[in-house]
Amino acid sequence: LGSSLRGTLSKLQGKSRLSEEDVQEVVKEIQRSLLQADVDVALVMDLSDSIKQRALDEDPPAGTSARDHVLRIVYEEMTDLIGESTKLPLEPQTILLAGLQGSGKTTSAAKMAWWFSKKGLRPAVIQTDTFRPGAYDQAKQMCERAEVEFYGDPDADDPVEIAREGLEQTSERDVHIVDTAGRHALEEDLISEIEEINTVVDPDTSLLVLDAAIGQGAKDQAREFENSIGINGVVITKLDGTAKGGGALAAVNETDSTIAFLGTGETVQDIERFEPSGFISRLLGMGDLKQLSERVERAMRETQAEDDDWEPEDVMKGQFTLNDMRKQMQAMNRMGPLDQVIDMIPGFGGSIRDQLPDDAMDVTQDRLRDFEVVMDSMTDDELENPRSVGAERVQRIARGSGKSEDRVRELLEQHQMMERMLKQFQGMGDSDMQRMMKK
Ligand code: GDP
Ligand code: MG
Repeated sequence: LGSSLRGTLSKLQGKSRLSEEDVQEVVKEIQRSLLQADVDVALVMDLSDSIKQRALDEDPPAGTSARDHVLRIVYEEMTDLIGESTKLPLEPQTILLAGLQGSGKTTSAAKMAWWFSKKGLRPAVIQTDTFRPGAYDQAKQMCERAEVEFYGDPDADDPVEIAREGLEQTSERDVHIVDTAGRHALEEDLISEIEEINTVVDPDTSLLVLDAAIGQGAKDQAREFENSIGINGVVITKLDGTAKGGGALAAVNETDSTIAFLGTGETVQDIERFEPSGFISRLLGMGDLKQLSERVERAMRETQAEDDDWEPEDVMKGQFTLNDMRKQMQAMNRMGPLDQVIDMIPGFGGSIRDQLPDDAMDVTQDRLRDFEVVMDSMTDDELENPRSVGAERVQRIARGSGKSEDRVRELLEQHQMMERMLKQFQGMGDSDMQRMMKK
């Protein structure tokens, strides 16, 4: 899982533009990953439509490879669907938990109480489950482990009364987490019970607790709870297992809410505040999507900054010196391997690239670093007029820089090649050129 998506994406590595087939292939792999992660079919189709559309319509911005561009679109579209984590201010509040039996409500109640206590608040868990034998003991034990206040009544049989009493008894606490009973399925009595509890508790936030393994059933469940009490957020439990929790996205979509917490184990500390990038990466079986998205942004910003001190117009008017080349190399160095960077330059792929010698793009980081050192040993005059550098000067520069004469000559050849390339550009319309370089 995920590896086929990675494989497809790596085939895009050297491309500056995506063909329809490329996009088709990427979208197919993304669909496969999401369906395997239990994401609702209709959602997967919606997502892939918008990803496809944008990948074909939008050109990769300068400083961005086609691969990174498409990944960024995927990330943005998925973040759009999933949203940021549910807002939970660190202040007094009441939270109601809803969900089917076994989804992980009681465990999550204790975990969340633990989480709030670590944030410096004073939470209490109120257990209203009179339906499941042992519910009281289970909740009490977990709250003891979490070292948080607990209220329940093993002898009472009216959950609404327990809720009312519990809030009163724990009124000196600032965060109230009200746990409710579940059922094996959505039944009338469950719905009317939770509606009554909801009225008494009047929560600030109602969270729907879902097992990560929930599949296509999430949507109906979410709709029922949404209609009866209104859902503001989702908790996905048991993410420590094999299930990726994609089914919960249908609930998020259905309730127009977001995800609040993730449960990642059986102990009270196994809780994480939801954070979209990790979850998306997990769904797709790909790491570092957020980092990548940020890298693309950074590359765009730095390309922008570079424009401030490196004026393509000057180069087009006059000559291309080693100083110009050095600035270019420094800009490229920040963006990554040169053969990829070359593909990022709009309009540079295809025909122009084909006219270059095979090793023209073989400017490895090592060579770039050597070139830097070599240029440090050159005089200003040599940097401005590299054609004046003859055999004797090559010898001197090599000695001064500690690099081989071959390296020095490579630098000069590289410079001449780039100069030739720029001359070719000059044959193009001035405005074309400026648009291309400034993009
Ligand atoms: P409730 O019926 O909704 O209150 O669900 P419970 O809180 O009783 O949880 C049902 C079962 O799932 C229990 O055995 C819990 O230990 C287990 N469980 C809950 N959350 C997690 C989780 O994040 N990871 C794992 N591995 N088990 C969990
Ligand atoms: Mg329970």
